[in-house]
Amino acid sequence: MPVTNPARNYGRPDQGLKREHCTTSHKQDEKPTDALSATETPRDASQQDPLADTSPLLSPEVPAGVDRRNFLIRSAVGGAAAVMTGRYISAEERTAMAVATMPQQAPQVKPVAPAEAPPLAADLNVVKKGAGPVLTTVDEFYKVGPGPSSSHTIGPMRITYDFYQRAAKLPADTLAKATKLQVNLFGSLSATGKGHGTERAALAGLVGKEPATVDPKFLDGLRDKPDQVFPVKLGAKSIDVSLKDIIYDAPKGDFKHPNTMTCKLLAGSEVLLEQEYYSVGGGFIEWKGYTPPKKNEPKYPYRTMKELRTHADNNKTTIAKIMLANEMSIAGKSEADVYAFVDKIINAMVATVKSGLSMPEDDVLPGPIKLHSKAATVYKRAQDDKFQGDRGIGTLSAFALAASEENGRGHLVITAPTGGSAGVMPALVYALVEVRKVDNQKVREGMLAAAAVGYLCKHHATLSAAEGGCQAEIGVASSMAAALVATAYDAPSLVVENAAESALEHHLGMTCDPVAGYVQVPCIERCAFGAVKAWTAYAIASNEIASRHRVNFDETVIALAQTAKEMNSKYKETSEAGLAQSVVLC
Ligand code: SF4
Repeated sequence: MPVTNPARNYGRPDQGLKREHCTTSHKQDEKPTDALSATETPRDASQQDPLADTSPLLSPEVPAGVDRRNFLIRSAVGGAAAVMTGRYISAEERTAMAVATMPQQAPQVKPVAPAEAPPLAADLNVVKKGAGPVLTTVDEFYKVGPGPSSSHTIGPMRITYDFYQRAAKLPADTLAKATKLQVNLFGSLSATGKGHGTERAALAGLVGKEPATVDPKFLDGLRDKPDQVFPVKLGAKSIDVSLKDIIYDAPKGDFKHPNTMTCKLLAGSEVLLEQEYYSVGGGFIEWKGYTPPKKNEPKYPYRTMKELRTHADNNKTTIAKIMLANEMSIAGKSEADVYAFVDKIINAMVATVKSGLSMPEDDVLPGPIKLHSKAATVYKRAQDDKFQGDRGIGTLSAFALAASEENGRGHLVITAPTGGSAGVMPALVYALVEVRKVDNQKVREGMLAAAAVGYLCKHHATLSAAEGGCQAEIGVASSMAAALVATAYDAPSLVVENAAESALEHHLGMTCDPVAGYVQVPCIERCAFGAVKAWTAYAIASNEIASRHRVNFDETVIALAQTAKEMNSKYKETSEAGLAQSVVLC
C-alpha cells in the first residue's frame, strides 16, 4: 500500500503544467514520524518481492569487535554460496566463514571535530554588509531594462544616466567650458562588455535615456549604425557624443569591484567632473564614497532566513506577509502601492515570455555565435509530447527560453535577480498565471517571498557573476523561483525555505563562461534548467517531511559567498575559460 506522506497535503500541483490549479489547503509542517497510519499495514518484503528477503542467508548475530556491515555482507555471500551449491551450512559455520574472510579492522579512532571553516575575507559582502537588517525594497530589486546583462547593460546605463544628471547640475560657467564626455570601462566590463553591448547601453544613459523606458530599437540602431553622433544638452551647453567616447580600458587591475567604470566631463585635458562607479550586480550601482540611502526601520527586522521565518511563524502568518509589512514600513508605502509595483513586474514578466514565444522560429540572435532562437519550436513540439510530465518540462523550458532569448536580443527584461537569469522567474510566473491560472494575489505574495530570497543572497553573498560566477545569477534566480512557486501554492514557511535552499544548493559552484562574451551560450538554456530545477526543488520540498530537510537556507548562502570568494576569476564573467574557451565559433 502506498505510504501517506503527511507533509504533502497542501495545494501542490499533482500533474503536468497543463493542469488547472487545484484547490489548496494550508497545513503546517508536522513532526516526522516513522509510525504507520491506521490504514497502513506493515510491508512484508518477502510477499512483495521473492528476491527481497535475505534473512535466511544471514548469520543471526554479529560477533563483538567486527564491522557490522562488512560482516553481514560476507555472511550473506557465504549463505548464498551454500544455497546455490545445495549444501546446508549452519549459522555458526557461516559466522566463522564471514569472520575469517574479513579484513583487519582498523583500531577505533576518537572522532576529530571538523575543521573550522576558513575565515571570510573582509571585503566580502557576507562580512561587510551582514551586520544590519535587510533593507532592500522591491522597487530597487526588480528592475526593468534592456538586456542582456543587468551588470553590463542596465547597471552601466543607470551609471551614465546618473552622471548625466550630475553633470547637468554643474554651475553654468563650468558647463560653458566643457568640451567632451568620456566613459572608461574596466575589469569585466572591459573583458566582456563588447558581447553585452555595454558601450551602447552606456551611451544611451549618457544621452539621457532611462533603462526602464528606453526603446530597444534605439539600442538596436546603435548596433546597426555605430557612427551616429548625439548632442547632449547640459544646461545651455551642447556636447556631441558617440560610441567613440565609450572606451574599453584595462580588463585587469586592482579595482575595487570587477565592474568598475569612470565617467568624466572634460574641458580639453582639464577634468571638470569625474566619478568612479561600480555596477555591483542585479542592476544595482554604487560609486566611490557611496553610502546607502537612509531608510525607515523595517517592522520586522531580519538578517537571515531563520529570523525572517521566525517572524512569520511567531505571528502565525507567511513570509510574504512579513515582507509586505516591511516593504510598507521601509519605503513608507501603502499596501496598494507595493502591490501596484509587483503587478507591474508580473505583467512585464508575462509580456517578455509572450514576446519571446511570438518570435519567428528561424530568428537568429545578434552576435557572432549566430544562435538560432528555439523557444517557439520547443513550445510547439512540447505540446505534442506523449507523456504529460515531458510536456510540462518542455513547456516550462520553452517559457524560460523565450524570456531569456528576449534578453539575448537586448530587449526589455526584468532583473530577477539579473539579466542573464532573466528567463527563470518569468517562466514560473507565466506558468502560474497563464497556465495554472493561480489566483493573482498568491502570485503577488510569491513575488515577495522570492524577493526575500534574492535580498538575503545580495545581503550576505552576491548577485554578480563577476564576483561569484553563474551560481550568483541562475542559482539565485532558481532559488527565488522555488520560493515563488511554494508560496503561490500556500506552502508553510519552512517548505518555502527548503525549496529555496534546495534550488540554490544545487547551483553552488556553477561558473560563468559566456561564449564570445555574449549572454547566449550557456545562458539561455541555463535559464530553462534553472526554471525546471526550481520546480524540482519545490516538488521535493513539498513532498519530503519538511523538518527533516538537513541543510538550511542560511548555511547555503554562506556556502555561496565562500564559493564566490574562492572561485577562479577565469570563471567570473571574463570569458577566459570553460565553454568560452572550448566552443569554437566558425
Ligand atoms: S553564464 Fe550565467 S552568469 Fe554568466 S552571463 Fe551567462 S547567465 Fe550570466
